[in-house]
Amino acid sequence: MSLRTAALTSVVTLLAFACGGSTDPAPAPTPAPTTTSPAPTAPTPEPPPAKPDDPVDPNYPSPHTPLPTLDYNGGPILESASIVTVTFPGDDKRVELEEFGDTITQTPWWDAVSEGYCGQGKCVGRGKSGGHVALAEAAAKSYTDSSQGSASSIQDFIRRLVADGTLPAPDGKNTLYAFYFPVGTSIDLDGSASCREFGAYHNSTDVTPPGGTLTRVAYAIMPRCGTNFNQLTISASHEFTEAATDPYVGHNDIAYYMRNQLWSMFGGENADLCVNSGFGGAHKEGKWVVQRSWSNKSAQASHDPCVPIPDGQAYFNVAPDKNFEQIKLAQGESMDITLKAFSDAPIGDWTIDAVEGNTFMGGSSYLSFKLDKETVHNGSKVTLTVTADKKIPQYALYVITSQKGSTRHSWPLVVTPKK
Ligand SMILES: [Zn+2]
Repeated sequence: MSLRTAALTSVVTLLAFACGGSTDPAPAPTPAPTTTSPAPTAPTPEPPPAKPDDPVDPNYPSPHTPLPTLDYNGGPILESASIVTVTFPGDDKRVELEEFGDTITQTPWWDAVSEGYCGQGKCVGRGKSGGHVALAEAAAKSYTDSSQGSASSIQDFIRRLVADGTLPAPDGKNTLYAFYFPVGTSIDLDGSASCREFGAYHNSTDVTPPGGTLTRVAYAIMPRCGTNFNQLTISASHEFTEAATDPYVGHNDIAYYMRNQLWSMFGGENADLCVNSGFGGAHKEGKWVVQRSWSNKSAQASHDPCVPIPDGQAYFNVAPDKNFEQIKLAQGESMDITLKAFSDAPIGDWTIDAVEGNTFMGGSSYLSFKLDKETVHNGSKVTLTVTADKKIPQYALYVITSQKGSTRHSWPLVVTPKK
């Protein structure tokens, strides 16, 4: 996750979890036969229903409002991430974590999540091992950290470990210190609690190696939130790809970050967008389970923006016409907005729904929705009537979900109050 969006991300994560946890619609019950009849002969196949008003567009994907891309904001990237794996005494996963850090940036997964992220004349390419540090000192019970210039005992700790030579000196602008804290250590990041409001994060600080000069370095913090090792490698890989595309968090030196206000509610950095949007999830890379992450290249081609894309999986979604991404409504007012369904390959029909974000946060509902169709395919035009049942506060976020089988995608929209 990005530090900048920590609070908001945790809120939207609730939404994503709530969406992801729902099940496929139950099949409609078969009506009981009203008469007994002889054994049926083979039924005559019914012709597909004519859809004169809703033809399938034979061109995939049907034209639609483009998916957003992460904006390049001018900061540096990690051209060849050098992962320094740092563990504490007694970590029973030390050997695996060291192997993970040494190898994961040299895999097809890394190639996919890194492709096209360039800045200052360099592009994120394959990384390398930056070595291992198995610390002799035990971790403290609690630490503080900040991306906003507040006191940080973690940064004090890292500065000391670099200054006394325990950690290797930063390797140009490539080093990423990857800290795996033990169970029982809690970290407070600008008021957010580890394992409760965040699973891991990346940040940066300035260090001075022995005989060297003050150098900015990126680091990732992985608290141990349970015994699920796959979850740990998902969290670590999430931070590695985010740190590579936006390493110097907290220093006004931003590289890749989603400026689109709507989509940034899913998170501003590449991996966040594939946790919280209901797009992505985990990917198996050799023996590791890692995070899928937002690819500008795939988004621009209207393919699944969360890469690697699972084998054979077509991408489908419903996009609002550009003018309708943000609308203003007074209390009691309604507006019809136009949505366009698209898929990047022939996949038949899928179902859609409109879901208000606030209701998942335990808040009250401000909006109601009426869709003129709930089953769509490539090229379907949908009219969604949005009504402000109450006075909208600052904003009311909602998503259009598209579901086929267990795969779900979503598109965020917002209503703001009409003054
Ligand atoms: Zn993230």
